[in-house]
Amino acid sequence: SGPLSVGEFAKLLRKEASEVIRKLIPIGVMATINQEIDVDTMTLVAEEFGVTVIYKEEFDESNIEEIEEVDEKENLQERPPVVTIMGHVDHGKTTLLDKIRSTNVTSGEAGGITQHIGAYQVEISGKKITFLDTPGHAAFTTMRARGAEVTDITILVVAADDGVMPQTIEAINHAKAANVPIIVAVNKMDKLDANPDRIKQQLTEYGLVPEDWGGDTIFVPVSAINGEGMEDLLEMILLVSEVQELKANPDKRARGVVIEAELDKGRGAVATVLIQNGTLKVGDGIVAGNYFGKIRAMINDHGRRVKVAPPSMPVEILGLPDVPSAGDPFMVFDDEKKARAIADKRNQKQREEERGAKTRVTLDDLFKQI
Ligand code: GDP
Ligand code: MG
Repeated sequence: SGPLSVGEFAKLLRKEASEVIRKLIPIGVMATINQEIDVDTMTLVAEEFGVTVIYKEEFDESNIEEIEEVDEKENLQERPPVVTIMGHVDHGKTTLLDKIRSTNVTSGEAGGITQHIGAYQVEISGKKITFLDTPGHAAFTTMRARGAEVTDITILVVAADDGVMPQTIEAINHAKAANVPIIVAVNKMDKLDANPDRIKQQLTEYGLVPEDWGGDTIFVPVSAINGEGMEDLLEMILLVSEVQELKANPDKRARGVVIEAELDKGRGAVATVLIQNGTLKVGDGIVAGNYFGKIRAMINDHGRRVKVAPPSMPVEILGLPDVPSAGDPFMVFDDEKKARAIADKRNQKQREEERGAKTRVTLDDLFKQI
């Protein structure tokens, strides 16, 4: 990586430019925010902040998070949006997720019962939407902390009979920091004391100005109990995702993120993964977190076995020797020997990291965190 301006570098470090400038003074560099500093200088400053910069030459394949594969435009196809639901406790996140799922389960399915796999897909107007079922805040913070950006759209649930609360604000901040568009679901509209205008008023103070007030934030009045507004909400999600032009290349080896994982008595390590690019197939050899395994079986959100999983699809996978962590990246490798070596290396690196306290990030990691 070449030189960066002080401002750009500060952003990577998640520091104020002024803090960086202050650290530059003792090493004899009087810089302004737009001035470029070289890699050696950056390394010194980064160390002052407790961050070790690893040079690109030290890049190794076990950093599967960093393996970049550029897709030719003609190979890209539209993929479903991945949606997370956030909001204050008791404002109706779980009820809303359940309602969306239950109203979209086709009646022919085994008793209409869907299996809980931590994420699910619904279809509306012939288009799919993926919902992450993990508690929004936790999913966001753990995954973002690990550099995994999985969410395309955030649904901010605010109870119309309550108002903007601390976790509402936290959710707004998370979404803004990740640059993820927010759709506001004003929930509990069935309640007699529902006051959607007050919610709009309050959210305006946080920069979420409703469209009918001249802003650009979509507000959808809903009731997670009686289903009011649910179709509207789904339509709005599709609208926002169309603007985002979400694309992936389904014709290549899959990569993605572990959403959740556990040890199942009968089935062994079970991980729910979200495919971010490519298509995952039964029989594929993958590295997930620090483990190599061959996909023995895949189960979709309806509890059915599937042989392939295209982009944005969540699936449960069987075949890993151990349980990876939520937020771990996964990637398919054709070469089993190489994949095993990569998994071993990741394992070893993690143990080293646990021993040494220093944060080790590469410049590219830093880039990813902007
Ligand atoms: P969460 O903490 O955000 O996941 O909230 P829950 O989904 O657990 O809901 C909290 C409480 O609010 C539960 O008792 C729900 O039944 C109730 N609730 C959720 N949505 C609605 C709604 O649209 N209308 C009414 N009247 N109650 C709701
Ligand atoms: Mg809940």
